[in-house]
Amino acid sequence: MLALFDLDNTLIDRRGVLEDWARGFAQSRRLPGGSESVICGRLRERAYPADFVHLREALGLGDDPGDLWREYVDGVARSVRCLPGVREGLEALRRAGWTLGIATNGAGDIQRAKLAATGLASHFDGICVSEEIGARKPAYEHFEAAAVLCGVRLSAGGWMVGDNAETDIRGGRAAGLRTAWVAHGRTWTDGPREPDIVVRGVAEAIEMMRAAAG
Ligand SMILES: [Mg+2]
Repeated sequence: MLALFDLDNTLIDRRGVLEDWARGFAQSRRLPGGSESVICGRLRERAYPADFVHLREALGLGDDPGDLWREYVDGVARSVRCLPGVREGLEALRRAGWTLGIATNGAGDIQRAKLAATGLASHFDGICVSEEIGARKPAYEHFEAAAVLCGVRLSAGGWMVGDNAETDIRGGRAAGLRTAWVAHGRTWTDGPREPDIVVRGVAEAIEMMRAAAG
């Protein structure tokens, strides 16, 4: 059985890492109050090198935007951690013969830096990063590429696990996958059709997926 996982705020705590990085960066540059929220506001949903062209202006910095991006990638890779139970859950799925893939939107260098820094990369048969394949979730092509990178066919079905209602859950369902929504305490309000399972975290999703597979 195939299981595709979103990365940010599903397997790793991107929100916490971003806040930590923004605080440390603002302190190191002696930026005025409010700078952290400018940084987090810009990078909350996604972060690409072009965002640092904008932030450089917004924060009045003289740095090369490329250097700022590398500082961000290195800083995030240094502090990123898996969410609780992720590693154990993935190992259990692998032992049970599941095929595991990453389906993530983002820039290749930072997503791969996070996967390497956490040691997560070795748990997966395939890693699909939107920038590298030219298709973002919720596009069907993203899920199809993720399955191919795992060495399986999307038409054989499987699961998509993620925290984003639009990109992970609606996208996954439209790609023919069952869906597990990592709710982080939220209530589903994105339309009448609910995810197949709603969980507090990935560990619980993995337990329920295994139970559903018998
Ligand atoms: Mg996410």
